[in-house]
Amino acid sequence: MIFAHDTELALQAAAALVNTSPGASLGRGEALSTVTDLAGFLQTWRWSGGRPPTEADLTEVRALRPRLRKVWHGDDTAIADLVNALLRDGRALPQVVDHDGFGWHIHATRDTAPWPQRMAVEAAMALVDVLRNDAVDRLRTCARDGCDDVFVDLSRNRSRRFCDTTCGNRENVAAYRASWAGSGEPGIVGTPPTPVRRGR
Ligand SMILES: [Zn+2]
Ligand SMILES: [Zn+2]
Repeated sequence: MIFAHDTELALQAAAALVNTSPGASLGRGEALSTVTDLAGFLQTWRWSGGRPPTEADLTEVRALRPRLRKVWHGDDTAIADLVNALLRDGRALPQVVDHDGFGWHIHATRDTAPWPQRMAVEAAMALVDVLRNDAVDRLRTCARDGCDDVFVDLSRNRSRRFCDTTCGNRENVAAYRASWAGSGEPGIVGTPPTPVRRGR
């Protein structure tokens, strides 16, 4: 594990939130069109407690996405500025809590706070750990052409390049096809050997 479990979950949720944006990847539409979509997102990412999301929450959560996306394109100082702004705007007040068998961890907003505030502050708190661990390079954008989805590289050797298995698999297939086409001979992968010219 690279970060504490709740930090990893919060970072992955923040990336997933950014990736709900329309056009974030290859012609994909808005994934948070309705309040029901937002409720589904919250359920998927196992947010506890709180009240059902409203239209106002939906509007604000959508507006949070471009702010969070900047984290994936910023250097340490830019990320720190953004984290501080998110904590200030969300009036974060860290409290150590233990509920539902998760063990001791930090909540920096009340469970009754509006969803956009909770989501912004939770992402910001997780990003504090990223900065403290000098791990900003783990915040990556998908290497596949035309995909600008973001992800958190939680691999031990910092080797992940694609947003998910779909993009990773497609890229491998494309690379295979390209090498196949280049060889001019079906079934042979790679460049054929150059004929060696011998002297008379
Ligand atoms: Zn909790
Ligand atoms: Zn991708």
